[in-house]
Amino acid sequence: MSQNNQYNYVYARRVHSGRRRKRKRIGTLLLTLFVILLLLLLFYIVLNKNQTQSVPANADASAVSMLKTVTEPAASEPVTESVESSHITQVIDGRTYIDGILIVNKSYPLPASYDPGLDAEAQSAFERMQKDASDDGLFLYITSGYRSYAEQEVQYGIHVQNKGKDYADRVSARPGFSEHQSGLSMDINSTEDSFADTKEARWIAENCVKYGFIIRFPKDKEDITGYAYEPWHIRYVGIQNAKKISESGLCLEEYLGISSVYAD
Ligand SMILES: [Zn+2]
Repeated sequence: MSQNNQYNYVYARRVHSGRRRKRKRIGTLLLTLFVILLLLLLFYIVLNKNQTQSVPANADASAVSMLKTVTEPAASEPVTESVESSHITQVIDGRTYIDGILIVNKSYPLPASYDPGLDAEAQSAFERMQKDASDDGLFLYITSGYRSYAEQEVQYGIHVQNKGKDYADRVSARPGFSEHQSGLSMDINSTEDSFADTKEARWIAENCVKYGFIIRFPKDKEDITGYAYEPWHIRYVGIQNAKKISESGLCLEEYLGISSVYAD
């Protein structure tokens, strides 16, 4: 081997081992990336599993835990999703509260013995609303406020007798399933469909939120609330909740991610 050839040989070896080191470095880098990706995938699976744990659809009091906190969603998720995926459900003496809101619909009944009368806070909120409406030249009055289990039994029975069970279930609640039994709901003025086109109905729709009420069964939400549109039926949820629900554009069931379907 000439000096020149020897030099070339050493140089080639250096280049060769240099490439080997480089390849080794790339290999380590790829392995690290792979491990990171694997960890991210695992993290994602665990997170997803927690988020899909939903509130039970049917209010079987014994099956629902006293206090169930669903995992908080990641901060990067849109607000509407976090509203649906993080709620606190409490069952107290057979009554279901979600985020502190007493829930009464076709999935969440009240015990027959629950007999609170018209809620004092809801009543005074209505009186404030009534006064302000009167300043605008409109007269609002409660047609039907608190209704006991027994009274609901009679009313539902009349609907069934008149137009059958299917119709009755669209416009009335079975005893124990009426929000009127909670003492937090009221029918204002008229319960005729034509009420929707009155000044009073428009005033209520525009202003009830300020007093802590929501239109409980909005238009085009029958599939979700389980009830036909009722512009006269307002539900007291407190001012803060009413504002949040109203701003979301969702009905209460959508807002809380719950159903309203009879078990049978
Ligand atoms: Zn009503």
